[in-house]
Amino acid sequence: MQPPERDVAMPGPGSARELAGKRAIVTGSTSGIGLGIATAFAKAGMHVMLNGFGKAEEIEAIRAGLAKSYGVTVLYSAADMSKPAEISAMVLAAEQAFGGVDVLVNNAGIQHVEAVETFPPEKWDAILAINLSSAFHATRHVVPMMKARKWGRIINVASAHGLVASPFKSAYVAAKHGVLGFTKTIALETAEHGITVNAICPGYVLTPLVQKQIPETAKARGITEEQVIKDVLLHAQPTRQFVTTEQLGAVATFLCGEGAASITGIALPVEGGWTAQ
Ligand code: NAD
Repeated sequence: MQPPERDVAMPGPGSARELAGKRAIVTGSTSGIGLGIATAFAKAGMHVMLNGFGKAEEIEAIRAGLAKSYGVTVLYSAADMSKPAEISAMVLAAEQAFGGVDVLVNNAGIQHVEAVETFPPEKWDAILAINLSSAFHATRHVVPMMKARKWGRIINVASAHGLVASPFKSAYVAAKHGVLGFTKTIALETAEHGITVNAICPGYVLTPLVQKQIPETAKARGITEEQVIKDVLLHAQPTRQFVTTEQLGAVATFLCGEGAASITGIALPVEGGWTAQ
């Protein structure tokens, strides 16, 4: 039996190519989760602006590799997410190069693990700026473009630490809880404009951000690095597995699709059951 003509002619919800040609900015995408999401988007046929720090030749290899592998336009912005003027310039550059922005993923983030009484105030400020305020600065620029086109997707990469706390992560937990409040607010402000705004709350993913905090956590808790992996990180997750960047890329792609058009304002845990406990 032939499938209905509509399914053949038009990519509908769940179709592999329904997102082809959409234009996305993914902040903090030269590494880890952001790179996983940017790769999934390119695979789905989306044009992507990468952002983040790293060695120029390595970033160029990522950019050119994605463009060649998936036949999409891949750009790069070196904007520092702690600097509002650079965030504005990044969104403007994407708008000028792509002709608009359909999808924004606020993903850039840093971490510092230390007890509150010695927590460096400059680390607090940097974490709040990069993990929380940058989402505001980028979002305020893309919303008018999305409203004009009556379609948009904003995805904020929060954390299981947006839902629950762990000791020695005061700035990070505060910022990620803030991201969830921001997500809900912008979801309500844009709900009648074909725009969805959601947060993904990953559990532990073995990226450089987590690798760096293993020795910091060992010091803060007075245990070995092996114990940190087994008794702190994987202990939090009933699956006893790290979440992968590929899984998060797939979740972000799903949230961009028409199948997710009625999902807005949520905090979606992707954390192996951590917050079910
Ligand atoms: P990562 O260190 O691998 O990647 C962070 C990215 O952000 C890199 O591209 C880096 O260059 C970029 N970045 C850092 N500071 C920046 C700045 N000032 N301006 C622009 N870019 C900047 O880390 P990751 O684990 O992939 O983390 C990505 C996001 O996922 C973060 O928001 C993090 O809080 C969140 N997250 C991570 C985990 C995890 O277990 N790894 C869990 C939950 C949430």
